[in-house]
Amino acid sequence: MSILKHIGNTPLVRLNRIGKDASSPLFGKCEHMNPGGSVKDRIALYIINDAEERGLLKPGLTIIEATAGNTGMGLALVAAARGYKLVCVLPEKMSVDKRVALATLGAQVIVTPNVPPSSPDYFKTIARQMAEENGWFLADQFNNPANVLAHYETTANEIIKQVDGPIGAFVSGSGTGGTISGVGKRLKEVYPDVKIILADPIGSSLAHWFETGDIVTDDRSYTVEGIGASDPPKNLDRSVLDEVLSISDEESFGMTKRLILEEGLLVGGSAGTNMAAALQVAMRDDINGPVVSILCDNWDRYRTQPWMQGWGPETRILQEEASETSTS
Ligand code: PMP
Repeated sequence: MSILKHIGNTPLVRLNRIGKDASSPLFGKCEHMNPGGSVKDRIALYIINDAEERGLLKPGLTIIEATAGNTGMGLALVAAARGYKLVCVLPEKMSVDKRVALATLGAQVIVTPNVPPSSPDYFKTIARQMAEENGWFLADQFNNPANVLAHYETTANEIIKQVDGPIGAFVSGSGTGGTISGVGKRLKEVYPDVKIILADPIGSSLAHWFETGDIVTDDRSYTVEGIGASDPPKNLDRSVLDEVLSISDEESFGMTKRLILEEGLLVGGSAGTNMAAALQVAMRDDINGPVVSILCDNWDRYRTQPWMQGWGPETRILQEEASETSTS
């Protein structure tokens, strides 16, 4: 059986320690346990299957994508298994670990400066331009409906099966909007009272866009990767959202540390953003049922990032200690 058959069907775990004082039970969907280490494996497979069905992709051709890294990893897996070449365009802000992992999987990596959408060097603009110039297939996760469909058909239906009875709230950040739009739409069909809550990093402009409808073009900087934006992507469906909670980098990384050290969940920064927001929701008394959120990706792609340093006790290397004692 192909590794691609093992994408999805991830565990849903209850956060017994972090959520112990909350009014509603708190659950995390372990998307970091997908073969490529993130929620984006699902959409990589859906986008490529759809392009093959529509005759846009044939083995030997090149796929290009603008990515925070995780979609690139998912595409690299599918590309390796199906015989495509892959080019990933990543903003400089994304971790070096992601660049190394993508290159190791055979992808060509292009790093763009951290600039706003108005700049010609913006990562999405560069990817689109290179696709047009070279006749490559642009996966286009920000606009491609196969992204939302992956979550509508798989992530959401798995959650519905895994949780007993009505779900109180679903909380998620938005990078492309695929997760929150697809899961949100399906959950609302089954449980009309469920609250769909966007977790937005402070510095992103999605919260302002949700509250006012205005698009602000200048992003303030923040460190958490893969979520938030100045320009709302087409795949983010405002009509499924009920609320937005703004979460600081400090809260996100503090929660990531708790997820790792208190729950044994080896996840990255955006899982911390999601759970920091989900915990606030689970503490409220107006939510009727379990609160579910997404553990988006694996910790391994952040281990050289400054925010993930020095969390545990210092490592003792006994051989060196012994040789220092013997020479002193
Ligand atoms: N977390 C991380 C680390 C991501 O890379 C992404 C996708 N860019 C997300 C969360 C958000 O997922 P979505 O694109 O479905 O909104």
